[in-house]
Amino acid sequence: LRTLSSDQAGSDRPTGLTAVHPSGSAVDDGKAEWSPTSWQSHPIKQDVVYDDYSKVEKALEKLESLPPLVHPKEIEDLKSKLRDAAEGRAFVLQGGDCAELFDYCNQDRIEAKLKVLLQMSLVLIWGTKLPIVRIGRIAGQYAKPRSKQTEVVEGYGEIPSFRGDNINGYDPSDRTPDPSRLVSSYFHSAATLNFIRSTLASGFADLHHPFEWDLSHVRKDSIRNRYQQVVDNISEGLQFMSTVGGDNPAWQSIDLFTSHEALLLEYEQSFTRLLRDPTVKSTNGTTDTNSNSTRSSSANSAKKYYNTSAHFVWIGDRTRQLDGAHVEFFRGVANPIGIKVGPSTETDELVAVLDRVDPDFVPGRVTLITRYGADKIKDKLGEQIRAVKKSGHKVVWISDPCHGNTKTSPVSKLKTRYFDDIISEIRLALEIHKDNDSTLNGLHLELTGDPVTECIGGSQDLEDEDLVVRYETFCDPRLSLSQCKYHNLSPVPHTTT
Ligand code: PEP
Ligand code: MN
Repeated sequence: LRTLSSDQAGSDRPTGLTAVHPSGSAVDDGKAEWSPTSWQSHPIKQDVVYDDYSKVEKALEKLESLPPLVHPKEIEDLKSKLRDAAEGRAFVLQGGDCAELFDYCNQDRIEAKLKVLLQMSLVLIWGTKLPIVRIGRIAGQYAKPRSKQTEVVEGYGEIPSFRGDNINGYDPSDRTPDPSRLVSSYFHSAATLNFIRSTLASGFADLHHPFEWDLSHVRKDSIRNRYQQVVDNISEGLQFMSTVGGDNPAWQSIDLFTSHEALLLEYEQSFTRLLRDPTVKSTNGTTDTNSNSTRSSSANSAKKYYNTSAHFVWIGDRTRQLDGAHVEFFRGVANPIGIKVGPSTETDELVAVLDRVDPDFVPGRVTLITRYGADKIKDKLGEQIRAVKKSGHKVVWISDPCHGNTKTSPVSKLKTRYFDDIISEIRLALEIHKDNDSTLNGLHLELTGDPVTECIGGSQDLEDEDLVVRYETFCDPRLSLSQCKYHNLSPVPHTTT
């Protein structure tokens, strides 16, 4: 097996595919011309080194010939919803698996995940009295950054870590990065997305039938009852509206947007295409949402580089360096983007990254996904809120209470998260925003619709000893369905400043 790259420039990469700046430290003020491949001349973290680049090129050629997974119209819709969130008029719920596997592309698993997202958003609508912007970590969350590039597996010795189905396999015998997985990712994303679209279009999310999203498996009566109360209240409200003639077709379905960490830039580059912005009016005064054909020079000027692999993509905590390849790639894509912000994020660098990826100060262009850890959030969040406010960037602030709270459990020695730490980070985020005259605009959670036992605590009071019962994650521990509901949080305070 080849060892995966250290976080250095891959010297054996062919020029023109991923030729990294030879010094590994490109000097750059972010003003140079951007293209979907300009990231290649920047130092890259979490790089993947392949044995055979001719196979990578072939896979990328294939990807470039395939149709987009999402449409610019949908991306622009999300952009406008995130603008609302940045201005306190909507609340974001982003959730899904840490590492989505190709095997999760399956009816039951997708339905279960949709169900948990729907149930959570129902509760959030009730609590916040705001529209919820739902974004799944789904249909493409296949590439994973790893803190350790290798691991020791019994019978195999030290082997490369699992980097996600987009790159290599979880099976220890399958850890060599395989370029054919790039094309497989496309088809698994497409099949997942197709099923989500058809399910939602067929009444799965119809508010008139929320009883289909029952909580019968939840053991705590108090939780089941509180959820049922919300459902009953909504049903009564809908009945009333229908009686007085105010039924709305919008209540029969919902928008669900897709997202993933855009880690593997070769893959993302092949989806990044110059397409018409459907929100820009053409010269005859109409908006054109359908075609990408060029009819006039004004149509040309309305074109933007959309990353059509997902509606929303984010930069992970390990790849957000100002001069790095990921920031360079993200600065040119028209999608709304996320940036993970952790305990090691320097405030000055955060503002410099914002200046680079949001030079036009567009509200909601950037979502900052904060993941400090319950014990560190107080040291950083307040300072960063104040600095971002001063910079003039109007961001969506969402809390990821999972990634800063990952621990090894003392008994079973499994990677886990304590439910109480998760709740504590959310509570503190709410408080610190309030104290700084700011608003928490959303939550980012690692969760699954499957009844797993990966996090400690929650409504089932899972203990360390219980983790082994159904510990199924291939990367980070996820909240299960029953851990994702009520947790005595007071309603999210919101201001409209
Ligand atoms: C993740 O979201 O799965 C992840 C790796 O997060 P972070 O970049 O914040 O560590
Ligand atoms: Mn994770």
